[in-house]
Amino acid sequence: MTGPTKPINPRGTKYDRVEFPVFEFPVVGKARYNYTTGEALGRFLAGLKEGKILGTYCNKCGRVFVPPRMYCSYCFREVDGWVEARDEGVVNTAVMSYISATRARLERPVAVGVIKLDVPGYQFDDHFFPGLMHYICGASEDDVKSMKIFGARVKARWKPPEQRTGSITDIECFEVARP
Ligand SMILES: [Zn+2]
Repeated sequence: MTGPTKPINPRGTKYDRVEFPVFEFPVVGKARYNYTTGEALGRFLAGLKEGKILGTYCNKCGRVFVPPRMYCSYCFREVDGWVEARDEGVVNTAVMSYISATRARLERPVAVGVIKLDVPGYQFDDHFFPGLMHYICGASEDDVKSMKIFGARVKARWKPPEQRTGSITDIECFEVARP
């Protein structure tokens, strides 16, 4: 393993110019396990299978939580109910990633970003909003590195219903809306 690498260019360092440690395990045992999602995440994942993005809201502070929480951590009280966010919104921030979700090196980078979701009847600022981190498709590397992608409208591209499993990957990506 090499030591920490200083960024060559704070706006982004080319993949072929940087060494980063990749952890590899020559022997990977098989582990079978169940994970209890709990009420909030369980309902959120079930919603994805139906093509819905569900969240919860707190009437005291007006916040909407996507992914949902059962308690408002700002007001220290139980949330007041469930709300359905639209499957579209704007790109709040984005980067080009050279590492896959399973930490493998990617030959071609992918755009990953935080999507600020629309929720009918609510307005949000840029600091606290319901949103998801996901792949962004239809954006070029230049769109991301130049930050032109920030503020772009995007819409979820869903897998066909029969292929959905109740996972965040039931959404393939958020696609940049072309007027
Ligand atoms: Zn609250």
